[in-house]
Amino acid sequence: MRMSNSPRERALAAIAALPSFAPVPALEFTVGNRLAIIGDPDVAFGWGERVQQACAVIVLATAHHHRLAALRAAHPDALVLPVDRAAIEGHAGAYRVLWECGDEQGEIACDLILDLQATPHWSGFELPVGYFAPGSDPLDQALAVLALVQLIGEWEKPRYVRFSSALCAHERNRIGGCSRCLEVCDTQAIRPSGDHVAIDPYWCQGCGDCVGVCPTGAVRFQYPRPADWSTALSAALDAWSDETPCTLLCYDERWRGALAQWEAEGGELPDHFLPLPIWRTTIFSEEWLLYALIRGVARVVLVSAAESEKPALLRAAAMVQTVFEALGDPYAAERVAIVCETTPEALTKRFSAPLSPYVSPGRFRFRLQTEKNDSMRLIRDALAKLAAERQVDAPVLLPSGSSWGAVAVTDRCTLCFACTGVCPTQALQAGGGIPKLQFTEARCVQCGLCANTCPEQAIELTPRWNPSQEANQAVILRQSEPAYCAECGAVLGPRSVLDKMVATLQSHPLFGQPDRQLLLRLCADCRVKAQFRETDPVRIWEL
Ligand code: SF4
Ligand code: SF4
Repeated sequence: MRMSNSPRERALAAIAALPSFAPVPALEFTVGNRLAIIGDPDVAFGWGERVQQACAVIVLATAHHHRLAALRAAHPDALVLPVDRAAIEGHAGAYRVLWECGDEQGEIACDLILDLQATPHWSGFELPVGYFAPGSDPLDQALAVLALVQLIGEWEKPRYVRFSSALCAHERNRIGGCSRCLEVCDTQAIRPSGDHVAIDPYWCQGCGDCVGVCPTGAVRFQYPRPADWSTALSAALDAWSDETPCTLLCYDERWRGALAQWEAEGGELPDHFLPLPIWRTTIFSEEWLLYALIRGVARVVLVSAAESEKPALLRAAAMVQTVFEALGDPYAAERVAIVCETTPEALTKRFSAPLSPYVSPGRFRFRLQTEKNDSMRLIRDALAKLAAERQVDAPVLLPSGSSWGAVAVTDRCTLCFACTGVCPTQALQAGGGIPKLQFTEARCVQCGLCANTCPEQAIELTPRWNPSQEANQAVILRQSEPAYCAECGAVLGPRSVLDKMVATLQSHPLFGQPDRQLLLRLCADCRVKAQFRETDPVRIWEL
């Protein structure tokens, strides 16, 4: 048996020897052969005739078209609906076309849709599976028809993401917070749904953009799961050698063919490259990048297929760079490289020189966790250790949009605690029975819900990395001397707020007398009891 000698061979052998990971949940599609063709009758009838062996076609033809009557006469068996307007809902195997024609309207169910309208119902984003809008080019139309016929049958695709609505910071009480995933989703699979967003798994095509930008981990990728990916990387790094720095090369399915062809033609990756293909490189958030570098990778090279995929990756890379710069790493700017539209030859030339790792492999041996919050805690702990060794303990400002940071309140804060009720991570908390607002920086994901909710606009956010232990502790942002119920001693709230309220109301005719003012200094229960004792109680409608 030949021994694996190079670090790369050992690393890849170690990954191959890992037990299989738990299967990713699948989404099942049952796609029948009902095809709706929408558009110009001439073209729609033409394609309808050509696919009639494979599909049960219904033509939704542009109404009032001068050729419609003649075509219907020539195809007496064809199912034809003249339509003025058509709206579409559903997904492959379960589409519904809601049509209107003059005063008439109705809907048809179909499995697949070929939309040949001049202005298709959907365009401008990655279209859902089973819906084709190829435009007017006959070649594109033919390719679409070939592709749609392939979809007939039963098949499944991975549930690419797992979504936890409780962690989503989209909205609270109709006040907006995070919308990052909505802004980047190219398939329109994500929609607002009350306090959180909702992800349509049938529309999701696994681009991973939302995963990379989600600050809370409400959206987690499952293809692969972070824990599985980090297990594979850990196994590879354990089999690697300390002497050879490791450049982690991650690329997606779309670049795999180019690399395979280049290697078949004699191209060879430098020894320090560890190639780890992944479904989409867009899933690399700061969590994955920081993990790789802390685990001992010297440099991460992400091959992205398109320029449009780069902004989110660049944001994450900028955050990582800032953290490593703060740690005094002279190669901080080179730790993460995002390249796109490159050839394997150009890429290997560009990164031919290895880089020394900042952290020696094996120093930190944790894996990424099921929940992002747990992963980030481990990552922050590791970074805090590195920072302590280099005597870095002052907070470091991070690029805007980073998901680490601080919250501060100004003097306008009245301790109303509207913010603690909306904070999805419990970074902001009330102070257990006394008027006190506490903040734990390590929990904050900078979603902005608290600032948007605060009626006094008293909250300010600062993206930053706080390497000190203080980040893990609840610090008091604001507190006030409590006011107690004058009868039972229960805490009523901040004394300053109560004093202000009493001062405002004492000029009111109903509270002019001291015994009436006393009512304002009672808790709800004691106030009711006091009201019953009074011969002339305050009536709410008199206020
Ligand atoms: S918290 Fe995550 S899932 Fe919720 S809106 Fe923001 S990015 Fe989307
Ligand atoms: S404290 Fe942080 S996590 Fe909580 S609502 Fe404010 S910005 Fe969001």
